[in-house]
Formats: sequence, structure tokens, C-alpha cells
Amino acid sequence: MSGPTDVAACVEEARRAIAAAGSTEELRRVTAEVSGKRSPLAEMSRELGALEPEARRQRGQHLQAARAVVEGLLEERAAALRFEERSRELAASRLDLTEFLPGSPAARAARGHLHLVSQTRDELEDVFVGMGFEVAEGPEIETDWYNFGALNIPPAHPARGMWDTFYLDLGEPETTLLRTHTSPVQIHLMERAVLDGALPIHAVMPGRCYRRDTPDARHLPVFHQVEGLVVDRGITFADLAGTIEVFTAAYFGPDIHARLRPAYFPFTEPSAEFEITCTLCRGTGCRTCSQTGWIELGGCGMVDPAVFAAVGVDAESWTGFAFGFGIDRCAQMRHQIADLRALVENDIRFLRQF
Ligand SMILES: [Zn+2]
Repeated sequence: MSGPTDVAACVEEARRAIAAAGSTEELRRVTAEVSGKRSPLAEMSRELGALEPEARRQRGQHLQAARAVVEGLLEERAAALRFEERSRELAASRLDLTEFLPGSPAARAARGHLHLVSQTRDELEDVFVGMGFEVAEGPEIETDWYNFGALNIPPAHPARGMWDTFYLDLGEPETTLLRTHTSPVQIHLMERAVLDGALPIHAVMPGRCYRRDTPDARHLPVFHQVEGLVVDRGITFADLAGTIEVFTAAYFGPDIHARLRPAYFPFTEPSAEFEITCTLCRGTGCRTCSQTGWIELGGCGMVDPAVFAAVGVDAESWTGFAFGFGIDRCAQMRHQIADLRALVENDIRFLRQF
């Protein structure tokens, strides 16, 4: 017949086994061993019936206390193991919920970012502001006078064919239109400057423009331009060429240069197209630049005296230059986007790259 010492030994044995259980599964096995129907303690309880009443009472109390201790140890160990295992799981999945709290970097990133065209516009503005230009804006809906007439493109002028546009159905036919370039803003600026006696002007004018173009890899019916205008005393073509070159290097990088080639625009005289080093081949010649090493970016020239006359600027005292080019096209060249239409398709996989 076993005595109280055996009970204590059983509890000690159980304590060791419970502490040694390294996982919830192992603990389940240990539980069966130390408190199940076949455990030593259960065995001892079954033997109680053979004892005298007084001895049975005492031994019964011992066993009950022992079982309570073992149950307590099991519960404690189970809780500790659950905690350890959950912690390991969390560490393994690397899921940090605090990342999704408001104000955290992850939450900010989920809000998205500016469209590539807006980013490009901002960067271009920064470059020109750094060169001393102010930024001006004007309306997207214009009258025929601001979009064509004042810019030396009278009705029926063949140059209007270059700027076929959308007219608004307001009263007189073909008098109100969606601007085909940002050049009307030049007219607004000069008119205001003449009225306020606020010449000279050094301004860039970014904005949205419209043309009846069929969309293709290089044209969109709605696009963005940035226009530049300088009106001051003693401005020459050299100032224009220098401005274009400084801008090109500042925006595209020091190994990209600009060159001017004779062209025709009604509102500038002389006029030039400006081309920059092909950003794909860096000037060595490739398919995109037709092996020339140069890509056309925009137009420029000295402000035509007829334009000065239209807005009342004295062409004897003031000279100036203007330039304009596509913002979308700048983005296309800098990021080597094969097809401009990707800018307006709103495919998040495309937009996320910038
Ligand atoms: Zn090239």
C-alpha cells in the first residue's frame, strides 16, 4: 500500500512532465499521462475503497489536493504555451497592424499620388521658377480672338488648319472654342500688363489644351502644354536659345541638349522648332528619332510685331520671345513611354510606376 510520499512523488513527476511539454500538442499527451483515467493519481483513487474509513478520508484528501495542484499546473502551462505559439505566429506573418493606423507611412501610401502629368507640370514649373519666370494661368474656353485673331491667325488663314478645334454652341457660330494651345494666355498677360503699365513680363503658362486629333501614340485630343513668354527691352534670339538650352539641361539632364531649326508659326518671327537630344539613344541614333539623334519637343520664336500691335505693346521699345511645348510629351520622353494614350487610360498598374 502506497503512502502520502507516493502522492507527493506523483505530483513532482507531473510537474516535471508538464514543464517539459514544449507545445500544446505535447501538453495534451502529458495531460492524459498525469491526470487521465490511467494516471497514477487516478489509480490511487481507485484503490481508496480498500482502506479503513479514517485512512480512506485522509488519503482521499491528499489525493484531491494533489489533483488540484496538477490541474492548476496544466492550466498554467497551457496558457503559457498558447501565448508563446501565438507570438511565434505573429512574428512569422510579419503583420504589424499599427502600420494601418491613420498617419502611418503605409496609410499615407495607400492614398495614392499625383498623376504623372501633374508631377511633370510641377517639375517644369519648378525649373522655370528657378530661372526667374512667374507662373500664370488662363481660361480653357476662349474666344476666337484670343485663340487665333490676336495671335496673327485671322479667319480663313491657312494656319488654322494646324489647330482644328472644338467649338461651343453659344450664340454666334464658331466664336467660342476650347483653346488649341496655351498661347491665348500670352495675350491676356500682355493686355493686362499694358493696362497696368506692368511690363516687362517673364512668365510660363501651363495648362490643358484641345485639338481635333485622332488619338495615337503621340497625339491626344486633350493634352497639356506649357507656354513661355518674355517681353523686355533688348531681348534677342540669343536669349531665347539660351533659355531653351538651360531649361533642357535642367529638366532632362546635363547630357541632353537643345537645337533650333527654322520653322513657321503665325505669332512668331523668326520662328523655330526646338529639338532635344533623343532621350532613348542619347544622340547616337535609334528608331524613335529616325536615326537622327534628335527629337522635336516644341516651337518657339521672337514675338511677331503683329501680335504686339494686337495687344498694344510698343514694338519699338519692347521685344520678346515665346516658346511652347507639350507637358505630356515631356513626360513621355523622360520616362520613355511608348504610347501617350497610357496617360489617360487610368490603368493603375501603369500609373503606380511614377
Ligand atoms: Zn534616338
